Amino acid sequence: MNNSIYNFPFPNNEPILSYLKKSPEREALDKELKRQSSEVIEIPLIIGGKEIYTGDTAKIVMPHKHSHTLAIYHKAGEKEIKMAIDAAKAAHKIWSDQNWATRASILLKVAELLATKYRATINAATMLGQSKNIYQAEIDAACETIDFLRFNISFAAEIYKTQPISSFNQLNRMEYRALEGFVFSVSPFNFTSIASNLNMAPVMMGNTTIWKPASTSVLSNYYLMKVFMEAGIPEGVVNFLPGSGALIGKNILNSPELAGIHFTGSNNTFNSLWREIGEKLGKYKSYPRLVGETGGKDFIFVHPSAKPREVAVAAFSGAFEYQGQKCSAASRMYIPSSLWEEIKNEMIEISESVKMGDVRDHDNFINAVIDEASFDNIVTYIDYAKESLEADIIFGGTYDKSEGYFVSPTFIKTTNPHFKSMEEEIFGPVLTTYVYKDKDIDKAIELCDTTSPYGLTGAVFGQNRLSVVDICTKLRYAAGNFYINDKPTGAVVGKQPFGGSRGSGTNDKAGGEFNLVRWISPRTVKETFIPSTDIFYGYMKE
Ligand code: NAD
Repeated sequence: MNNSIYNFPFPNNEPILSYLKKSPEREALDKELKRQSSEVIEIPLIIGGKEIYTGDTAKIVMPHKHSHTLAIYHKAGEKEIKMAIDAAKAAHKIWSDQNWATRASILLKVAELLATKYRATINAATMLGQSKNIYQAEIDAACETIDFLRFNISFAAEIYKTQPISSFNQLNRMEYRALEGFVFSVSPFNFTSIASNLNMAPVMMGNTTIWKPASTSVLSNYYLMKVFMEAGIPEGVVNFLPGSGALIGKNILNSPELAGIHFTGSNNTFNSLWREIGEKLGKYKSYPRLVGETGGKDFIFVHPSAKPREVAVAAFSGAFEYQGQKCSAASRMYIPSSLWEEIKNEMIEISESVKMGDVRDHDNFINAVIDEASFDNIVTYIDYAKESLEADIIFGGTYDKSEGYFVSPTFIKTTNPHFKSMEEEIFGPVLTTYVYKDKDIDKAIELCDTTSPYGLTGAVFGQNRLSVVDICTKLRYAAGNFYINDKPTGAVVGKQPFGGSRGSGTNDKAGGEFNLVRWISPRTVKETFIPSTDIFYGYMKE
């Protein structure tokens, strides 16, 4: 037995590569984009390390060119869901019994493979399948995935190190057991890194998972799964199960072995899972841990002392990068009337300088939204604004799904602070602003705090320090990630632990110790060296 105490210091964040023309990373990526664009791969389920082809298939297409099929994937039926539960159960003993440094070393190898050998693969799959430009794919599929893996090991080391006090005649220990059962990891389409972390965080702490990837991100998620396997994650530790969310969810929630759900996605899905678990509580061996990051209606609040150019740049990138499909994307703004004209003109100028189109043309800042359902949903908000007397479209407002699902960045100004697009999550490139009178700033802060049911991200812009502090205090519960003079997107692992409360989730802060503790069930062990042989209390013997 190796008796070393391992020390994993905090790593540095994975550097974001530049992808300048002729750089080695750009050449490797372009070659990989060509390769993946010229083939149609077949994606199996992976259960207990075995590839399974069910024959019940669906297509993965490029959102920016939906006539182009990238892959055919097989979908799980009831039989395969049961197989996955059995495989996760079977792998639990060996994985949870492993020395944690062995588990850490495998995860570090996943990170290393993604940083080097498979960087271009995972970025290209994320670009083509989820319609991200190079930069958006690099910060997500490569850098954030790698950061989650490396940082979580250091956070785990801190947790494992925490031990209770002992005194004469006794030794007290905390044993950090994995949960008893398996974790159901349910991932969204929008971040490859989240899909990885929803599995790898519980796996680091000794758990096994059944992974339900979003149907529109199966391509990049399959490549991830293959990297997990190449790095040496034993069979059955992660079970890759694409298919119908409703069918998989229903069957998984019937298993007494369900020990937790690690979820990121919409409120509707998380609420329905939570509700169903509540109804079935008597069924489970343990109370399942429910960790969910859900929707957002993220804001930018502008104080009259703000600098218009800084606000405009942050608002444009915070709202429209990756087509507004980040849970943290700015989607509502509060601008004082004294700055409105300047901010508006700056934003119009920026909007005229960006291009939209296929991810393989690297001049395109904006690409497509994920699929037709999402496109149609976003369009209803734009059309609603066009028809409303309470709203003006400042720029954008156009859309076209003939070749790809393209919606131009759309900026709406409304006179109604409760306008539909100020309140509801749209998950697309639509930003709405309410322009408040400078003298009514307190009312505007109140509106910002109370308008939406969410509490994910928010930003305040201003040069007046005391006012900024005041706004930060008044909006304490409006955002779990709050930014001062910066856009509300782009949280970095280890630097801005991510998550929000209210309707935005359980706020367990992905990529940190608060999240990892949800995947362990500590056992306290007290050992007495010389047990007492006397039943009476001291005062009884006087
Ligand atoms: P979604 O809820 O449609 O899907 C998420 C996952 O749930 C998918 O894998 C889907 O197949 C699965 N699913 C659907 N029904 C299910 C069921 N009955 N049982 C089990 N699984 C089921 O979300 P999406 O469209 O993929 O992602 C967009 C949403 O995710 C937005 O609301 C966004 O705000 C949110 N999001 C939040 C965060 C955060 O950190 N708060 C991060 C990213 C995305």
